[in-house]
Amino acid sequence: MAIGGEQCGAADPFEEPERFRSLREGVRAVCARFPDAYWRDLDARREYPEAFVRAMTETGWLGALIPTEYGGLGLGLAEAAVILEEVNRQGGNAGPAHAQMYIMGTLLKHGSEEQKRRYLPGIAAGSIRLQAFGVTEPEAGTDTTRITTTAIRRGDRYVISGRKIYISRVQHSDLMLLLARTSPRDEARPADGMSVFLVDLAAAGAAIRLRRLPMSMNNETNEVEIDGLEVFADNLVGVEGQGFRQIIDGWNAERILIAAECVGDGRWFVERAARYATERIVFGRPIGANQGVQFPIAAAHAQIEAADLVRQRASARFDAGLACGADANLAKYLAAEASWAAANACLDTYGGNGFNSEHDVERKFRETRLYRVAPISNNLVLAYIGHRVLGMPRSY
Ligand SMILES: Cc1cc2nc3c(=O)[nH]c(=O)nc-3n(C[C@H](O)[C@H](O)[C@H](O)COP(=O)(O)OP(=O)(O)OC[C@H]3O[C@@H](n4cnc5c(N)ncnc54)[C@H](O)[C@@H]3O)c2cc1C
Repeated sequence: MAIGGEQCGAADPFEEPERFRSLREGVRAVCARFPDAYWRDLDARREYPEAFVRAMTETGWLGALIPTEYGGLGLGLAEAAVILEEVNRQGGNAGPAHAQMYIMGTLLKHGSEEQKRRYLPGIAAGSIRLQAFGVTEPEAGTDTTRITTTAIRRGDRYVISGRKIYISRVQHSDLMLLLARTSPRDEARPADGMSVFLVDLAAAGAAIRLRRLPMSMNNETNEVEIDGLEVFADNLVGVEGQGFRQIIDGWNAERILIAAECVGDGRWFVERAARYATERIVFGRPIGANQGVQFPIAAAHAQIEAADLVRQRASARFDAGLACGADANLAKYLAAEASWAAANACLDTYGGNGFNSEHDVERKFRETRLYRVAPISNNLVLAYIGHRVLGMPRSY
């Protein structure tokens, strides 16, 4: 029996459309200016990839989801996903810049016309950065309805106080989208009573204190203490008390984009591992001739290809305005597991070199590990699938 084969002559129904292929080429051209050594050096110094973020902004890609009437590219989520995937696939890290795409949904869907006109053209042009998203709190953790940061209305302002943790990119952003309680938690309706604010970080002065946290990867993430921060009422996004729902609206996009980054990481690991396994000679033959080396790489490749198909289905449904919660969660789960499998296969393939930062594998290994935990842990994704898709009892 033959092991496998190719059918010739048929049109490929899964061939990637030209618009995605040219987008990939464009992103690759920018990434080529920021080779492994660039990321390795920043990682060692824990510095922000300022030049890379500027380059990605100048090409318009970080404003991909901003409608053209506000100066953006007006592209869909499928295109945005391809952009982030390609950054990670080329050895970079989309993490320092991706929030602009994640957060955009909340602002586009729930922001007022005045807010959009005030901020979106600047974000698209790169003069304003919207890269910070303040949800997580030390005590509440994943149970967001238990946040205790409060916003109290006083005349034409809200006065905000509280504590957030693991808030990324605050020190490289002009704006932060912040979730706070505008009324106390009601046990019967815990998701009510939270509101979203656009906070001008430069204007916050001493009302916001930051402590950068020492993380295992180069991610500028902070503990944020907010003490009496005054925010004008016209910086409330959407409807007071409905903030949690407005943020949830953006979560499907976030999960699909994370899945794309994981697919990009996974492909980088598989490509590097396959190449190294073919070139590295031990016991007189390429290590990739040994099934103990070859199979984990092949298995990771299989996982990534499957995750990518679900990711594509999720983004197509999202862009068509269809319900996509199940697909977005499946894609995030599958892709985070696949990139982690690929990371481990690659590290093992590299042997000792896998731990040597000069080979970049250990850096990408640390970076991709995050996505099993944040922005949402795979446990909670499984809890969503178990409850919302399969109808089992709720645990969250
Ligand atoms: C590098 C980094 C950057 C981040 N950036 C941001 C940011 O910019 N903005 C922001 O708001 N947040 C950010 N976060 C926070 C991130 O979203 C949270 O860490 C993540 O959602 C998990 O929450 P937690 O850490 O509070 O874990 P916890 O809620 O304390 O959970 C701990 C563990 O318990 C598990 N668990 C909890 N409840 C259940 C359950 N019901 N069933 C099964 N398992 C459960 C979880 O899966 C997790 O593994 C960032 C985190 C990191 C590490």
